[in-house]
Amino acid sequence: MSNRWSVVVDREQCFSFGMCIETLPRVFVWDEEDKPVIQPFDPDAISLDELKEAVDGCPRAALTLVDEEGRTLWS
Ligand code: SF4
Repeated sequence: MSNRWSVVVDREQCFSFGMCIETLPRVFVWDEEDKPVIQPFDPDAISLDELKEAVDGCPRAALTLVDEEGRTLWS
């Protein structure tokens, strides 16, 4: 199984509550518009369960876990 995951942020849905950044500051950081962006991370150092937890913790359902080809793995 590939572990080349990423997370897509729906910037329209995001209300900048910050739970994703609190949950996984190694992955999510604020941009200049107070929206989270994904910073480069070592996929071997972040588990799929940690990413799923961040996705599930978003109160706006603004996060989608995708594989390297952009296919939805978890939302
Ligand atoms: S948890 Fe959801 S709403 Fe909050 S900053 Fe992250 S993506 Fe935006």
